Amino acid sequence: MTQEDRSVAGANTEEGPNAYGAAREAIAAQEREEARIAAEADTSLRAPLYEIFTSIQGEALFAGFQQIFIRFCGCDLGCPWCDTPEAQHDPPAEVWCQARPGVRGFSIANPAGIDEVLGAVKRILKHDEEGAIHSIALTGGEPLMHADYVSALAATLRPLDLPIMLETNGQRPDDLQKVLGMIDWVAADYKLDSSMGRPLDDDARREFLRLAQYKRAFVKIVVTDQATEEELEEVYAQIASVDPACPVFIQPVTPSGGARPPGGLELIRFRALAMKRLRDVRVMPQIHKVLGLK
Ligand code: SF4
Repeated sequence: MTQEDRSVAGANTEEGPNAYGAAREAIAAQEREEARIAAEADTSLRAPLYEIFTSIQGEALFAGFQQIFIRFCGCDLGCPWCDTPEAQHDPPAEVWCQARPGVRGFSIANPAGIDEVLGAVKRILKHDEEGAIHSIALTGGEPLMHADYVSALAATLRPLDLPIMLETNGQRPDDLQKVLGMIDWVAADYKLDSSMGRPLDDDARREFLRLAQYKRAFVKIVVTDQATEEELEEVYAQIASVDPACPVFIQPVTPSGGARPPGGLELIRFRALAMKRLRDVRVMPQIHKVLGLK
């Protein structure tokens, strides 16, 4: 449990002494569970990574915060407009690591061991004298293709007391279950059938979001100029059936692989449609691209 969690739980004290006791017990139970998972974690596992670096998060709820990104190789979706196609290829022989933004870095062997990744993360934190780094993002590719590793890695990273966010395409509920105990945030990146050129598994997505609610979660929906109101309404209904208050970000695609974003007026319409069912919906492009960052 991170410092952030403890302060959020502490905010409940306004509700009185009983609420305070319940919050304290919930925190203690969570910490016992984390200790159990950490004790059982297999830290000898290895996984194919692409890179480890720090930059400004450019998407959704954490946009504008500086994070440490641990990028996994491999993805089970293969979006035509993927903005990290390099992570879909065969893993590189070494994982490129950057200790400070804009400064040439170092590398670790691939597939990467958990202790080596922890060492790379600590090296980044050592240069963060200002305490500017907000959190750690486990991203891809699709990290949940390596769920046992993600769980063990997150257990190893928890003593650093930084929130851990999982960025995922939101299609692997069974694997999410394996890692939920060790992460703080789930960022589910929804794709639309129109932009994929094939139907995705709605049941898997709904189950995924249901499980993600055990932690804090939000959804990004990437839209291209092929997006239709009908398919968006279906996705909005799926999210609303799990949690109408779940933060949702409509993210116009950054032009790539022939994909183009919808026009501004369409985006306003897409958001208005969402507000019929959902309470917290924002339109937001990828700001790291605007900033010229990774
Ligand atoms: S889910 Fe993400 S990483 Fe995978 S192909 Fe699509 S955009 Fe790329």
